[in-house]
Order: sequence, then structure tokens, then C-alpha cells
Amino acid sequence: MTRQIIVAENAGYCFGVKRAVEMTVEYNKKKKSKVYTLGPLIHNDDVVKSLEEQGIFRINSNDIAELKPEDTVIIRSHGTTPAIIDRIRQTGASIVDATCPYVTSIQRKARKYYQEGYQIVIVGDRSHPEVIGINGWCNNSALVVKDGSELDKLPNKVCVLSQTTEKLSNYERTRKAVSRLAKDVLAFNTICSATGERQNSADQVSKEVDLMVVIGGKQSSNTKKLYEICRANCSNTWLIENVRELPDWVAGDPKWKTIGVTAGASTPDWIIAEVIDKLKERTSK
Ligand code: SF4
Repeated sequence: MTRQIIVAENAGYCFGVKRAVEMTVEYNKKKKSKVYTLGPLIHNDDVVKSLEEQGIFRINSNDIAELKPEDTVIIRSHGTTPAIIDRIRQTGASIVDATCPYVTSIQRKARKYYQEGYQIVIVGDRSHPEVIGINGWCNNSALVVKDGSELDKLPNKVCVLSQTTEKLSNYERTRKAVSRLAKDVLAFNTICSATGERQNSADQVSKEVDLMVVIGGKQSSNTKKLYEICRANCSNTWLIENVRELPDWVAGDPKWKTIGVTAGASTPDWIIAEVIDKLKERTSK
């Protein structure tokens, strides 16, 4: 049986997530005392488990008061608020800031334009840690919107920012709505290209295959989006977190001549490789 496996060109770890995981693992090797992550470092249970095996555990904001001066807290790629950073500093614990530089740049804009008197508008999901973090840099004064249709009155000076994983159409709709309501408008498309690149290559590959396998954490919003895109092109699309979730009867079915593989931005290479190996292994049986 011949079978072709096509792996999407942009699949798996994005720059910011890879950097955060590497910074954490490297720092932990050198540090003798406890290293914690503020929230799960990334949306992938296998990676979180592997970090726990290395002695790196997650805490949440309610645990900050318990930190000791010799502890270290890693700020994950989504970033956090200045208030949380202050609370950690007050305990004497060290901070390793693994906020993705693209997110840091949005936080800086939020702070700068808030200080210059602009009303900050963030296009995104108000409950997402990245948005909560950005809002913290403008004193939690931002209006968080889905697509701008919620807005009916604004002050004269408005600065529009977007969550890095936001849809371009929502950002554009908001920008237009704000331009109708305010005179002095600054709008920054702060959507990260990693998201679009993953979506474009998943879209392309899923149009060409009989079976599409999307790998990623069930909590990961970018993985869910990849699944939706692939499912629209290929009705035989499977969303799995790791190789254990890929049933033998799916991997081994001879009717799949061409199989596509993609993965969300929180999926490490080793999990992708295990899935590809299983699909290849089943080819030869
Ligand atoms: S998706 Fe973009 S902004 Fe978010 S962590 Fe990855 S590289 Fe950074």
C-alpha cells in the first residue's frame, strides 16, 4: 500500500512558545531552588507533564503570597499585568519574563497611548490571559470588543490594538467602527503572522488529502481554529492531542492514500514526529 503524508509547512511551536519553553528548561537546569510557571506554560498537557517531571510546577495568582525569596516565577508567552509582577516582586522571588516579544510590544503600546490620553480598544477575547495582561498595562481601562459592533460612543482619542490570535476581519471591522466614532484614531494591527501562516498552510494541505490529522491541546484556541479550517475542506479530519489519541483503525485504514498533518502553536516537534511515525508504520502493514 502506498501512502503519502503531507506535513503542513508551518506546523507546531511558534517562535514565542518555543522561546518560552527553552528559556524555562534552560533556567531550571541552572537554578537550585524552585521554579514555577504562572499558569500552565503552554496549552499542552504533555509538555506541562514533562515540565513537572523536571520539577517545574505551575502556580496561579492566588499562590503568589506563598512564594519564598529563593523561588523563581516564569511569566509565560501570553504575558501578565504589571500588578501581578509587582506582587511577585514584593515576595522577593525572581522573575524570568518569557512574554513573547510581540506581546510585549502590544503591552508597551497600551501603556504609552494610555499615558498620552488615548482610550485603548482591544479586539479580542476578554477572558484570554493575553488580553487580561495587555489591559493591565493601561490600568484595566481598555474596552475589549469582538468586532466593534458593540461600540456606540467613544472619546475623541482612541487607540485600537488586537489580540495576537485575532481574526483580521474583526480587527478591520473594529477599526472602521472606531474611525466613524472618534476623530483622533491610532490603529495597530498587532495580529501575529504565526497564526495566519499556520492557518494558510493547514487550509492548503487539507484541500489535497483524504484524511487530515490536527494535533494540539484541547484548550488551545489556535488548534481549534486549525481544526475548523481543515474540517471545512476535509470531512475526515481528526483532532488529537498526541499519538495515543490516534486510533489504530484510523491510522491503519488502507483507504487513506494521502494524509495531511498539522499542529497548533503549542505542539512540540516530538509529539508531531510520533504521530507521523505511527501513520508511516501503518503504511507498511
Ligand atoms: S502566536 Fe505569535 S505572539 Fe503568540 S506566542 Fe507565538 S509568536 Fe508570540
